[in-house]
Amino acid sequence: KMSDSFREKIAELQRLTRLQTEFIGNVSHEVRNPIFSIGGYLEALASPTMDPETRKRYVEKALQNLNRLNNLFNDLIEIARLEYRADLIHPSVFNLQELLEEVVDMLYPKAEEKGLIIQAENDPVYVRADRERIRQVLTNLIDNAISYTDEGYIRCRIRRRRDKVHVEVVDTGRGIPEEHLDRIFERFYRVDPDRSRRSGGTGLGLSIVKQILQAHGEAIHVESTVGRGSRFWFELPYAEADEAVSA
Ligand code: ADP
Repeated sequence: KMSDSFREKIAELQRLTRLQTEFIGNVSHEVRNPIFSIGGYLEALASPTMDPETRKRYVEKALQNLNRLNNLFNDLIEIARLEYRADLIHPSVFNLQELLEEVVDMLYPKAEEKGLIIQAENDPVYVRADRERIRQVLTNLIDNAISYTDEGYIRCRIRRRRDKVHVEVVDTGRGIPEEHLDRIFERFYRVDPDRSRRSGGTGLGLSIVKQILQAHGEAIHVESTVGRGSRFWFELPYAEADEAVSA
């Protein structure tokens, strides 16, 4: 007779296999549409009688879809890296405020284009974490805040709380309905799939954020009110500035 624990292990393996299959199905779906659409625009562009306006629009559409594929490709690589445990986390002590400023500088043009203000006034605070992974976390959260906000501001705040550093990204955007709140961290889960895809979203960003923070032994939290905005926050271990080793 099979032992219960053995039966449980088999059930767990079956569940994981099902998740993998589902994941591959989702990836195929996300890849197929932009590829077809790029093909369609290119074929149309081959026509010699197209007016310059339409030509310009089609080239832009094709590039937009290429951008989607590129984002998907990068997110998939990140997920594969995170699943490969050996290469999980490389912690060091670094200045979090400096990193946040780099991320904000990079995303500033996207915010400006939408007429949004990004506020990031913080004191220098050192943390012990994987700098490049935390860059990705901040990038994904701030990028989302910009994508899902039409007017107002994005506020990024870093504060020390005893042996932890509290990081939050607040926006005045569309917000997330209550019933979606615990699902948005699942791979490919989106509240509004079309809006997400149009803004180049892959539906993977928050699942990557969650996975990275989990690897640090931390969690991601969210609070949101529809029509008023969202607040995402997490913590990292505080470190003294003099623990930082200058490279
Ligand atoms: P996406 O590429 O679709 O942005 P994410 O995993 O980053 O994928 O986010 C999942 C979904 O959560 C988004 O499609 C969106 O519906 C919702 N979401 C994420 N961040 C915000 C935000 N700041 N405001 C409103 N909705 C958000």
